[in-house]
Amino acid sequence: KSPPFLANEPVRPFSFKDTKDWDLLRASLTKFTDEGALSVPLVINGKKIYRDETKPQVNPSHHSQNLANVSQATAEDIKAAIEAAKSAKAKWAATSWTDRAAIFLKAADLISTKYRYDMLAATMLGQGKNVYQAEIDCVAELIDFFKFNVKYAEEMYGTQPIQTAPGVWNRAEYRPLEGFVYAVTPFNFTAIAGNLVGAPALMGNTVVWKPSATAALSNYLLLTILEEAGLPAGVINFIPGDPIQVTDLVLEDPEFSALHFTGSTDVFKNLYCKISNNVAADKYRDFPRIVGETGGKNFHLIHPSASINHSVLSTLRGAFEYQGQKCSATSRAYVPESIWPEFKDQIAAAVDTITIGNTSDPSQLNAFMGPVIHQQSFDKLKAVLDNAKTDPELEIITGGSYDSTNGYYVQPTVIRTTNPQHEYLTKEFFGPILTVYVYPDNSYEEIMNSIDGATKYGLTGSVFARDREAIRLAEEKLRYAAGNFYINDKSTGAVVGQQWFGGARASGTNDKAGSGNILSRFVSVRSVKENF
Ligand code: GLU
Repeated sequence: KSPPFLANEPVRPFSFKDTKDWDLLRASLTKFTDEGALSVPLVINGKKIYRDETKPQVNPSHHSQNLANVSQATAEDIKAAIEAAKSAKAKWAATSWTDRAAIFLKAADLISTKYRYDMLAATMLGQGKNVYQAEIDCVAELIDFFKFNVKYAEEMYGTQPIQTAPGVWNRAEYRPLEGFVYAVTPFNFTAIAGNLVGAPALMGNTVVWKPSATAALSNYLLLTILEEAGLPAGVINFIPGDPIQVTDLVLEDPEFSALHFTGSTDVFKNLYCKISNNVAADKYRDFPRIVGETGGKNFHLIHPSASINHSVLSTLRGAFEYQGQKCSATSRAYVPESIWPEFKDQIAAAVDTITIGNTSDPSQLNAFMGPVIHQQSFDKLKAVLDNAKTDPELEIITGGSYDSTNGYYVQPTVIRTTNPQHEYLTKEFFGPILTVYVYPDNSYEEIMNSIDGATKYGLTGSVFARDREAIRLAEEKLRYAAGNFYINDKSTGAVVGQQWFGGARASGTNDKAGSGNILSRFVSVRSVKENF
């Protein structure tokens, strides 16, 4: 039996400047920056490999500061990582599941205690999270993934055929996949990276891991914690590098047996097609499992019966926490005419109070927002804001400015459009920009067709209403518009074990992170019948 740990890891408030917490966090931030840029190696078969060719990971709050020189994998390194994953496989697969689980539980414990502040600092510095956003990600959610996955694995292994016959013993054997798993992980959640590599590894698979270039520091730290917890060499091989080169070499291998992905819809589509072409060419032994979580254009639908105050605050948090860089971020809101004047005043006033800060400066750690992740994202968001200033169908209600003098800062912005099909209501921007459409009160039902049909996505969405029939109708009509549907809550912030996370349509394969379902994608069950 696994230990009882079904409580979610509590999120620490970090609200008082003089506590021990703050001192420890400051010390960790300094430790990472004291001596200039750190060197992040590749890790192949448990060996750290430093390459001359490196890529800088800069601090998005202060882009002249280079945090890390990240070694870039060569073609030989990528092949070596694949071979390492293959060679480590037999022993790891033969390790009892409880021994594998113990490593993840120990890592969860190390994150909660010894490395809590280092994990926070690496995520805050490199990924531009304020202390609260870092705490819910690289501490609480990461620990939850590791612990809950163990619980789910225990349940899965205990699930056996329900029927037998006299003189027969039927059993199900949960084998790891026969080859290796390729994990492609995003910048925006250290916890997601942990789950993308951790879930397959827990089930006895070995992994080739391509981290995001803008999260290499926290991701490498996480790998070293797993190693300290006892992860054997070769089980997870860490190869930052050119995404196309890494992917192409990995997907060439006949033993490639699964993709575990979080990132953009376009990249996922591309990988999906490459894999399909290789399947058509009989390249693989298995039909690879493809598990992906991608983009969204997540909605808040406000009904006239909603609490204005609550829906405004929820929208503010859903749209602007972590600068809108969650796949689940609220990026479109549908507000009825009757409450729009009040909603508009309240949201404009609330946005005015938002503080934007340098998430690596100890005096600004509590700012509500930090920078966006990199120059490319900044440039894209800047173009979106500039265009909003001239497009006759768009009106900036509040915000609209940006400044990249020191860091990649984009002001939280609310834009109103008069066109329910406008691309600002359909395209994902992945930044702190919310587009509002104001609908006539008597077309609540029609507006749902527009919400459902406007985008190709289906990730998250919320309805705000006090009227029960309005809630019921939204639940029914928006059935496929969101894989995570919230009633009177914001579209972000799914908690492991509480709201299984993921969406269908262009948002992914909807295998639900934070549920046991994800684990089933990384096992290949053998049915065994024995006659006595
Ligand atoms: N699980 C996160 C949430 O519910 C979002 C994950 C993502 O950005 O991919 O807010």
